[in-house]
Amino acid sequence: MKNNLNVSINKNFSWEVIQKELRHQFGNEIYESWLKKIVFEEKFSNYILVSVSTRFIRDWIVSRYLDQILGTIKKLNKEIIRVEFKIESKLESNVNDAQKNLDPKISFIRDSFLQYNRIDQNKSFDNFVIGESNKLAFEAAKKVSEKISHYNPFYLYAGVGMGKTHILNAIGLKLKEDNKVTFISAERFMYQFVKSIKSNEMVKFKDTFRNTDVLIIDDIQFMNGKEAMQEEFFHTFNSLIDKGSQVILSADRPPNKLIKIQERIKSRFSGGLVVDIQNPEHELRLKILKSKVDELKLLYNEKLNLSDDILKFISNEIRNSIRELVGALNRVASFSRIYNRVPNLNEIKIILKDLLNTNDALITIDYIQTLVCKYFKISKNEMLSSRRSRYLVRPRQVAIYLAKVLTTKSLPEIGREFSNRDHTTVIHSVKTIEKLKSNNSEILNGINYLKNQILYRKENEI
Ligand code: ADP
Ligand code: MG
Repeated sequence: MKNNLNVSINKNFSWEVIQKELRHQFGNEIYESWLKKIVFEEKFSNYILVSVSTRFIRDWIVSRYLDQILGTIKKLNKEIIRVEFKIESKLESNVNDAQKNLDPKISFIRDSFLQYNRIDQNKSFDNFVIGESNKLAFEAAKKVSEKISHYNPFYLYAGVGMGKTHILNAIGLKLKEDNKVTFISAERFMYQFVKSIKSNEMVKFKDTFRNTDVLIIDDIQFMNGKEAMQEEFFHTFNSLIDKGSQVILSADRPPNKLIKIQERIKSRFSGGLVVDIQNPEHELRLKILKSKVDELKLLYNEKLNLSDDILKFISNEIRNSIRELVGALNRVASFSRIYNRVPNLNEIKIILKDLLNTNDALITIDYIQTLVCKYFKISKNEMLSSRRSRYLVRPRQVAIYLAKVLTTKSLPEIGREFSNRDHTTVIHSVKTIEKLKSNNSEILNGINYLKNQILYRKENEI
């Protein structure tokens, strides 16, 4: 149900009230430029579905404001634990409507069951960039999409933001040309299961999932616990495979590492083809950036002329997740849209500062010690000495704590940089400060001030 008029659909839930609160919290500027664009769609038992018109707006809101938005919603509606976004641009919504009404091959049961099929038109094989680390997964996925039930089940695993959902989507898009495809996240599968039991609709639930040619379940690691549900899932799984339907699964780990999932299910997961995506190498990261720049230019008609230096910088710095890489580029694009020019390297460092935090080269323990000493007005020698006067112990603990949270150094490594202290001393300091932080606002403020000082270095200022 579209709800541009902000009419609440639930007695205790009012989108209008939430919007007011958001305007108040974020201020007019952010509210008017971003948050107002969020259209409330539907409230479910523990989450809400909203829509925005472009992926860019969604990524921007999600990367910057979502935590706070959720906090605000939770304050007013305790039961809400997440917010789901969908893209509802004019073009895409036409496509979706057409599918909803005309395409019998997509299992889409309006209003009641699978609220919406999660296949995203924009994630296909065509715009999936290939490199050493994901080639195998890509090729296997292509094979699955060409001939169903050949590799059955197909199990794809990788860390977060590595392209699992993109690949699953691509398979779904291809297969739905000739097959009935059901694409669902494990979380939603569980939710539907519980809901069906409560509303006595188990028959419908079973039918939905068993009468499909292709069942794609994303993030299977979330399907844990609940014996009854695993039982149902196991039967669905077996009956699909028996009748030659394709089952496709993704997870953040290999089948044998899944927890709270029955052994026999894990072993069936391993029975088909299991492939993974490795961490993206630099070349691939750069290639992805370039392809996304082209995509942005095409989609939004933007003049996004980023120099090779900038692309190299971003692809060098953001290594662990393709989602972060794409998110970083979106921020840069947004900067250039707002200021009508491309940011320079220094500006980029600031725009991306929270993504670059793990950069060891910038944040050294020595630098942390220097700033902490300055703050507490003690000398570096005193900090590193073995003296245990109270006025030295606390700053030392704070510095150790900050070294732990702001660098990727191990506990023994940190200990070494504090005059060869033992790693147990490091643990003790971290725990002490964590505890103090939660009940001593002076310490908390000091820590926050120092964190800012360390993260936002002078040379990074514009
Ligand atoms: P995961 O499901 O593994 O957490 P996603 O599939 O959601 O990751 O990928 C995160 C983002 O990165 C998505 O926007 C996706 O389109 C993009 N992405 C990931 N891998 C690639 C790739 N090889 N080529 C192009 N885009 C990619
Ligand atoms: Mg995913």
